[in-house]
Amino acid sequence: MHHDVIIVGGGPAGLAFARALHGSGLQVALVERQPEPELATPRDDGREIALTHRSIATLKALGAWAHLDPADIAPLREARVLNGGSPFALSFDAQGSEDDRLGDLVPNHRIRAALFQAVADQPGLEILAGVAVATVLAERTGVTVTLVDGRVLRARLLVGADSRFSSVRQQLGIGAHINRLGRSMLLARVAHEEDHHGIATEWFDHGQTIAMLPLNGRRSSAVLTLPAADIDDLVQLDRAALGTDLTRRYHRRLGRMTVLAGPDVYPLAITWSKHFVATRSALIGDAAVGMHPVTAHGFNLGLQSQAMLARLIRAAAARGGNIASPLLLRRFETAHRLAALPIYAATNAIVSLYSDERPPARLARMATLRAGTHLPLVRSAVSRLLMQH
Ligand SMILES: Cc1cc2nc3c(=O)[nH]c(=O)nc-3n(C[C@H](O)[C@H](O)[C@H](O)COP(=O)(O)OP(=O)(O)OC[C@H]3O[C@@H](n4cnc5c(N)ncnc54)[C@H](O)[C@@H]3O)c2cc1C
Repeated sequence: MHHDVIIVGGGPAGLAFARALHGSGLQVALVERQPEPELATPRDDGREIALTHRSIATLKALGAWAHLDPADIAPLREARVLNGGSPFALSFDAQGSEDDRLGDLVPNHRIRAALFQAVADQPGLEILAGVAVATVLAERTGVTVTLVDGRVLRARLLVGADSRFSSVRQQLGIGAHINRLGRSMLLARVAHEEDHHGIATEWFDHGQTIAMLPLNGRRSSAVLTLPAADIDDLVQLDRAALGTDLTRRYHRRLGRMTVLAGPDVYPLAITWSKHFVATRSALIGDAAVGMHPVTAHGFNLGLQSQAMLARLIRAAAARGGNIASPLLLRRFETAHRLAALPIYAATNAIVSLYSDERPPARLARMATLRAGTHLPLVRSAVSRLLMQH
């Protein structure tokens, strides 16, 4: 064996997992098709990641948090869900927790850069950047990974962290529920006239969903979800016209908006792998569960998945055991399934309830919001879920 572990994919989940194996004594290879300069200073992709307290603690433990510029970290104090023209808002706050925040918003490209800095000189880690994995073969005796340039790697364990359309997953013969929703998200960083007070809003208006995520100063990340063809039309607008359009769509709640960066567009697709493990292999991050971004849990869940797997592997390595045993892999799968299923199901329920324009669904939305505003228990349960995951 050339390595103990081969990780396919140097996105945030793959990088975090590589770092979590630091000091385990294992020889690790990480293969990423993007070239190293792109890993070290990734392009701004417009995504603002809402990190929960647990994720922040994990990033601190991995040594990545210290590489973030405090100017890039924006506190998220409250989240509100609005429905159409209704005055009712379902509000989630930190319920008097120590620092009075639900979490922090950090740009995705800064998280990736910080994680890369954390692993850059890690002993025992070989980073093969700028080369894609062509094929993987996982057998009882070991795994074989062939790169597009013809190099062949062998290891005891394969970890797929290669996105929601994971080719590792496909080659391992693991099926997945893939739902392409026919909608896209447009992301634009905007400046606006009014204060947001650290409050994120998710507004399910008729025919459109628009979220505003509060950044430092009078700036927000505007996230607009529409049918894919409508987003394609909007992308053609220049920044001034897009700012005017977003201001109108948001009913001037934050005053006039000016586009500072973007737009970036993401076609929406949600994925759920039927298994998270196979012979000598495991899936983490979006390769295991590709969440709808509406509840902002995809990376939070991905970070949890890698931490869970790393913990089991480190324990096995420390006692000289088998880091790819079927029992270990099954324990990872069971634990991650238990963690992921409730939040995946709740997110999909929210999406279908709020994007259905038929009258019964609109009534149900109103009822849910009214119930939520009048049932403190519902609110506090959701807030706890938000803060924990
Ligand atoms: C608009 C939007 C907003 C979001 N907001 C939030 C949020 O607020 N909170 C949150 O928790 N999550 C959020 N998410 C989700 C989050 O961005 C993802 O969960 C996270 O990026 C997944 O990381 P990953 O490492 O699993 O996969 P990816 O980031 O997809 O990385 C996969 C990596 O694998 C590499 N790769 C793929 N195939 C190969 C191959 N064959 N060989 C070599 N390398 C390969 C790719 O180049 C890539 O670098 C959001 C997502 C979107 C789209």
